[in-house]
Amino acid sequence: MKEWLKRLLDLCLPRYCVVCGRRLLYAETCTCARCLLHLPLTRFKGRRSNVVERIMWDECIATQRANAFMKFDRLSPYCQVFYHFKYWSHPDVAVYYGRLMALDVRDEGFFEGIDLIVPVPLSRRRLGRRGYNQSERLAQGIRQVTGLPVAEDVVVRCVDNRTQTQLTAEERRQNVADIFSLARPEAVCGRHILLVDDVITTGSTLRACAHALLEAEGVRLSVMGLAISSYHMRWVFPELDGN
Ligand SMILES: [Zn+2]
Repeated sequence: MKEWLKRLLDLCLPRYCVVCGRRLLYAETCTCARCLLHLPLTRFKGRRSNVVERIMWDECIATQRANAFMKFDRLSPYCQVFYHFKYWSHPDVAVYYGRLMALDVRDEGFFEGIDLIVPVPLSRRRLGRRGYNQSERLAQGIRQVTGLPVAEDVVVRCVDNRTQTQLTAEERRQNVADIFSLARPEAVCGRHILLVDDVITTGSTLRACAHALLEAEGVRLSVMGLAISSYHMRWVFPELDGN
């Protein structure tokens, strides 16, 4: 599209920051520069034994690399980012944040040796209702930065478990036990897989999906979430707050 046309469109169809609601400048996308500057980052990158890695250890799952880009707090205006792509039909916001989380760790060698990106799948019913899988959109953002392929059909969600929002850690664990199955083991056999999720809370969904992937022989696993629940992080690992 020609530059003048883009500028005209921007004038006629103003775009707004998904965090603060301020009108975006022409050069800004999705989130204004001020909100980007104050993103609640976890600063896990490059740190071994970080909270995401420990959450996977909870069920003896070893990861090559693990990261969560930012903190998720229901009282923070930044939770609007998640509402945009989860409830308000803005998959473009997930793609944009997928790119941000990939750019954040790209130069640390986070993606070295990874063969394939696998997003945590949604059930058919939820996918039908939303029209897209937000984790797959995040994975597409990562693909734009890294060039790594994304495979959506490797793991399937066989059961439409009830929403996890109001459940305790143990209830979540029970709620997701055996809900994933490995549909194409040949696609992951002997490969290094990056499993991608949107928000990590207790990690039960991520672990259940990891178990399904690890049924294939020789799979090495890395995990990446856009965010981790800061409430859960403080509650389970008070000594690691901020690490
Ligand atoms: Zn803003």
